[in-house]
Amino acid sequence: MRFLRFPSSHSERLRKVTRLMPLILLALPLAAVSPVAAQSAPVPVMDLHSDILNRTLNVGADMGDEAPWMQVTPDKMRQGNVRDQVLSVWVDSRGVRGPAATRRALQMIDAFGLQAERNADHIALARTVAESDAIHASGRIAMWLWLEGGAPIDDDLSLLRTFHRLGVCGMTLTWSNNLLWAGSSSDREDDDMGLTDFGREVVREMNRLRMIVDVSHVSQRTFYEVLELSTAPVVASHSGCRALHDHDRNLTDDQLRALAAKGGVVGIAAFPTILKAVPRDVVHDVEASIQPQLDALAARYDGNTGDMNYRHERRLLMQEAMPAEHRVTLDDFLDHVDHAIRIAGPKHVAMGSDFDGVSTLPMGLESAADWPNVVAGLRARGHDEQTIRDVMFENVRRVFREVLD
Ligand SMILES: [Zn+2]
Repeated sequence: MRFLRFPSSHSERLRKVTRLMPLILLALPLAAVSPVAAQSAPVPVMDLHSDILNRTLNVGADMGDEAPWMQVTPDKMRQGNVRDQVLSVWVDSRGVRGPAATRRALQMIDAFGLQAERNADHIALARTVAESDAIHASGRIAMWLWLEGGAPIDDDLSLLRTFHRLGVCGMTLTWSNNLLWAGSSSDREDDDMGLTDFGREVVREMNRLRMIVDVSHVSQRTFYEVLELSTAPVVASHSGCRALHDHDRNLTDDQLRALAAKGGVVGIAAFPTILKAVPRDVVHDVEASIQPQLDALAARYDGNTGDMNYRHERRLLMQEAMPAEHRVTLDDFLDHVDHAIRIAGPKHVAMGSDFDGVSTLPMGLESAADWPNVVAGLRARGHDEQTIRDVMFENVRRVFREVLD
């Protein structure tokens, strides 16, 4: 609009704008429906998995600190248009069991409560989609609590009910090892255990309480037994596709179809280990090639290699030095999303980042602020706006509403 650029006076500017007004008014409805306008509309995000509670509890930090190493913070979620974020209440069940696992889970729920108080302008706990909508209407982001692994219920349905009353809306049945009542896909002794009678009771009680059953991390046998038994849709909150990378945590095409037939969703995890095979010796070679820089970095942190900022900076150095063919990128993540859409259908795929729970991340998808890169990537791959909105947001919301509200 060059002719508007040099008005000689305020009145002349006003006159020109007034003359153009009918044109501007005519153009407005067109702009509202033009593809360009639609493409610039921010797409909301509902992410099924972050471990920020574990990390912040370990170092006594707060999401609102906005430290560089934190991948899910109020600022980053706002940059990424996150409307809903599921927070994992994770216990290392390989080492922590029995009452100690229950205690750790309760400490994490308390840590969330304190963070929600300190960041009350930004986040609040949701237990239903109606509550999430109210939180969104108040300008805040909805947080959902989710047990990752059933160890904290310590083989006791009264504890399952108590966690539910504390605001836990879903539970991944196992983490990386078998419980007494359900099998994990990563168990070192037996990776094909299913549900025991008590395991079946857990699933039935979750259905009765209207909690969401999550089959990420579980064995194939457990997966199919849960799908047969559950009266509600089931989710796999943070997994990948076995057809693209043969990792025990990834779902086969048959599993993807079965999950969709049950009305559920799979959240694709942004976890390089399950997205693509990177040979160990490549990682070692890269480490060796930048050893002086890694040493200098460790020296800067006085050898405190547990420092989260140190680990963040080390991840970036390693990522930078990785040969291009071995880098795990946003495109690798999108390959899994594409495959899941093809096999399970566009109504059954979602986001399950695993932010703050992994030691490396795909380049281009390294925090909640990067979700718009996923939206742009899906557009570049030719997905329509409805599909993009569905996989970023609507599909999870549909399942949550169906089960929780
Ligand atoms: Zn996990």
